[in-house]
Amino acid sequence: MILELLDVHGYYGKSHIVQGVSLHIKKGEVVTLLGRNGAGKTTTLNTIMGVVAPRRGTIRFDGKEIAGLPPHAIAEKGLSLVPEHRGIFRLLTVEENLTMAARRDSPWSLEEVYRIFPRLRERRRNGGSQLSGGEQQMLAIGRALMTNPKVLMLDEPVEGLAPVIVDEIVTQIGKIKESGIPIILVEQNLAVCTQLADRHYIIEQGRVVYTGSNAEFLADDGVKDRYLGIN
Ligand code: ATP
Repeated sequence: MILELLDVHGYYGKSHIVQGVSLHIKKGEVVTLLGRNGAGKTTTLNTIMGVVAPRRGTIRFDGKEIAGLPPHAIAEKGLSLVPEHRGIFRLLTVEENLTMAARRDSPWSLEEVYRIFPRLRERRRNGGSQLSGGEQQMLAIGRALMTNPKVLMLDEPVEGLAPVIVDEIVTQIGKIKESGIPIILVEQNLAVCTQLADRHYIIEQGRVVYTGSNAEFLADDGVKDRYLGIN
């Protein structure tokens, strides 16, 4: 098990948002966090990263407690979050964005990233601000890969993108999975989730209310209706 949360609680000020989340991810797995808007999925990711300080519970990464560490220390250990609003440098070129994120000990070279995202190779001399939404998303994920993540967290990577780009990004995330990096995916697009994931967690009001394998989830028509309000 690479990452494990046990009864984790997270607050924004006095608002108790993450109310005892327990979940885990194993090496090579893709797991999703599903749930309605405002359920606490993004806050769970931010709590793992230490951006929201957990007030209770255990977060174990590679066997060691990380709850309470500052975000930069958690990032250095190999946890990487690609946030919903991407955070690329718009005034730098694609290649500068990537090389800035590189780590000396990383097996991820520019070539490796370009192998997964051929569009980024084509656009390598373009500025971040000249990229389409889909290309910005690819660049944000590419930057995360350059840091040599041991767990990659993607927050709504295909939100607002055209279907053809969504398919491209799903294929690319599939390749990252094949490379062995475990991925926690927060995503509203259920087709994307079921194409990529081994297991799913559904979060409601800051708690895990359902967990199941992808096959179990696909076979259970009721679960989507009960917790997600969609079929
Ligand atoms: P979404 O898909 O809408 O992002 P989510 O499941 O990721 O949904 P969160 O973003 O984790 O939900 O939000 C959970 C709750 O925390 C919401 O009620 C939201 O209003 C609140 N919240 C989020 N960010 C903050 C913040 N910075 N300060 C205070 N409350 C916040």
